[in-house]
Amino acid sequence: MTITSNTPDGTEPYYLPSGDEVRIFEQCHAKNLAVMLKGPTGCGKTRFVEHMAWRLKRPLITISCHDDLTASDLIGRFLIRHDGTQWQDGPLTRAVREGAICYLDEVVEARQDTVVVLHPLTDYRRVLPIDKTGETIEAAPGFQLVVSYNPGYQRMLKDLKPSTRQRFVALDFQFPPAEREADIVEREGGCDHATATALVSLGHRLRALQDRGLAEVPSTRLLISAARLISSGISVKEACYSALVSPLSDDQSLVGGMRDLVDATFV
Ligand code: ADP
Repeated sequence: MTITSNTPDGTEPYYLPSGDEVRIFEQCHAKNLAVMLKGPTGCGKTRFVEHMAWRLKRPLITISCHDDLTASDLIGRFLIRHDGTQWQDGPLTRAVREGAICYLDEVVEARQDTVVVLHPLTDYRRVLPIDKTGETIEAAPGFQLVVSYNPGYQRMLKDLKPSTRQRFVALDFQFPPAEREADIVEREGGCDHATATALVSLGHRLRALQDRGLAEVPSTRLLISAARLISSGISVKEACYSALVSPLSDDQSLVGGMRDLVDATFV
């Protein structure tokens, strides 16, 4: 589990919108609605939340979910000290008290009995019962619950229960349209525009391989990694092999096909 805050120096986290997501999120925040961000990994969900927390001037507490995450990890626990025990708030409790935006990344990774502790926070009550202390905390103004979720990933193994899903307004994320994605890759990867455009076009070709058995397609994040290697002086093809092709598959025929696409894009 990791916990992060807004950018340390308070500068605006760069986010290029693809649609109406900023306005919808602002309305959800104003109306105390919890939000679910759906979309493939590396398409900008986390960056969007960072940007929105900055826009709305709220602290941001991020929790990366995994299957060992317990309700106590979220809510808090008694710590044993030399002079007795002391209660320590977990990150969710802190967010509720501080009126922060609490972002649970990859929420489907968490067990159902952990996820249910979110329920009373997502309806009109906006409370967090803490069984161990007997307290029930009302969410401070500005508190908002945001979860992210990748519908394509482990779909058959893990899914959110309908009773949980229906507590959220869902925003669908996709990879940005080509021109915008090129702007993002140029800016975040520090390469020139022509290289960014070529990387995005390669990305589109590689994404088409999903039908041929590629489990995860190259994300905007991977395109940015390739751009960063290129801007640091690594040759374009080597950068693409290392940052785009290799991380995606170990299957020799798929890897070969992807390397061919790299060679065809950057002759
Ligand atoms: P996710 O949370 O969906 O897995 P991230 O938000 O971490 O993905 O996105 C990965 C990287 O891609 C970000 O660090 C950022 O550099 C870049 N990125 C993706 N989409 C955008 C966007 N719309 N505006 C700005 N940067 C973006």
